[in-house]
Amino acid sequence: MHKMTGRPDDDVQSILSNIREIACDFASQRAERQRRRELMKEDFDKLRESGYLMVAVPSEFGGVWDGDDVGTRIVCDILRTLAHGDSSIALVSAMHQSVIRSSGWLSIPKAPEPYTEAWDEQRRWVFQTVAEGHFWGTIMSEPGSGGDNTQSTSKAEPASNNGQYLLSGQKHFGSGSGMTSFMVTHAMPDGEMTPDTFVLDMRDLIWDGSSGVKLIAPWDGHGMTATQSHGMVFDKFPATRLAFPGDERRAILARIDRPQGASFVAVIVGIVETAVSTARDQLEKKHDRMRSYERAEWAKVEIEAWLVQQAYEGMLREIEMGRPSGRNSLLAKEAVAELSESILLRISKIIGGGAYSRHSPYGFWLEDVRALGFLRPPWGLAFERIFDGSWDS
Ligand SMILES: Cc1cc2nc3c(=O)[nH]c(=O)nc-3n(C[C@H](O)[C@H](O)[C@H](O)COP(=O)(O)OP(=O)(O)OC[C@H]3O[C@@H](n4cnc5c(N)ncnc54)[C@H](O)[C@@H]3O)c2cc1C
Repeated sequence: MHKMTGRPDDDVQSILSNIREIACDFASQRAERQRRRELMKEDFDKLRESGYLMVAVPSEFGGVWDGDDVGTRIVCDILRTLAHGDSSIALVSAMHQSVIRSSGWLSIPKAPEPYTEAWDEQRRWVFQTVAEGHFWGTIMSEPGSGGDNTQSTSKAEPASNNGQYLLSGQKHFGSGSGMTSFMVTHAMPDGEMTPDTFVLDMRDLIWDGSSGVKLIAPWDGHGMTATQSHGMVFDKFPATRLAFPGDERRAILARIDRPQGASFVAVIVGIVETAVSTARDQLEKKHDRMRSYERAEWAKVEIEAWLVQQAYEGMLREIEMGRPSGRNSLLAKEAVAELSESILLRISKIIGGGAYSRHSPYGFWLEDVRALGFLRPPWGLAFERIFDGSWDS
């Protein structure tokens, strides 16, 4: 593996070529990996060694992140490459950077008084944990919240006056549970009207309730089967509030036009690319004997796969050109979600009955790509935002 040099441009190239190597190795174990229902520590050790974690650390802190305009393509291309090898690991990896960014540590370099010093200290601490090799994740979602964080009913009671709280509530979809050292979540602080963001230290815990967290629903997804996106209940679990708390931080974040969900799109694009090229190879020998229905369906696969590429490229280009990145990535996310399901269904029909078997990779990929529509913002919320945004100037 290529080693990090501390020169961001060189390091980006090293990470990408390390990830290519890892994805190739993962792809060679595809049949076994697609049946996995759990994450393996050695895979995350490899990712750590690849330097990938440093995409969540700004270049001035020794990482490779240089802002959304250039950084989004870099992160997306890395995740898309990783997804060529293993869908679940790529999705868990996507959470690492996206949660550090969405919490504001990457996009708010300086907080106003009285939070300036504490925010600065917390940012340094977060980046330090990453440099030391810790994975970050999120267990934000709550049953019945419809993917909307502002609906959180979890509670946070102050435990001291230095940002420490005790958090109680039920959470689900905590992708990467067991591999991530720190997880970000939302809860309503005592006496306040809006939920805020908290950090949970998830290291070395037994999930039996004795340390304030209990595993109540081990992940049983139809797709993304090995993401360990468990459901947990927290009972007075120690939590650290963001050092720039409250409405003011949320208002700043709301004003920043961020490409939310772009990394999820990248993962699914990677899966579609691998599925299409696998199917093309498989069909090569019989393509002149294909029936007219199969030929027409394959032509549609080509058209839709082309549209997926255009959506991905268009999303990144709009970000690089400084155009409204939030709306464009949302449109790309929903377009790719619908197209990728359609592509995998068509491929299965063309390949024939064998594709329905668990010996074939296509059924696994079909379920994996279905995750995109459920990922934040899930279908209903996403379409509402797209509809409402139509009349925004
Ligand atoms: C593979 C995978 C991995 C994921 N990983 C993570 C992760 O790491 N961390 C994380 O935090 N989340 C994660 N998620 C969760 C994801 O981000 C969404 O929060 C989740 O899928 C929301 O689902 P839902 O809205 O359909 O479900 P629910 O909240 O159960 O809602 C079900 C339906 O009820 C309706 N509804 C519920 N509440 C409302 C409301 N308030 N207003 C209007 N309608 C409502 C909606 O029609 C909604 O579709 C993951 C999801 C998947 C599929």
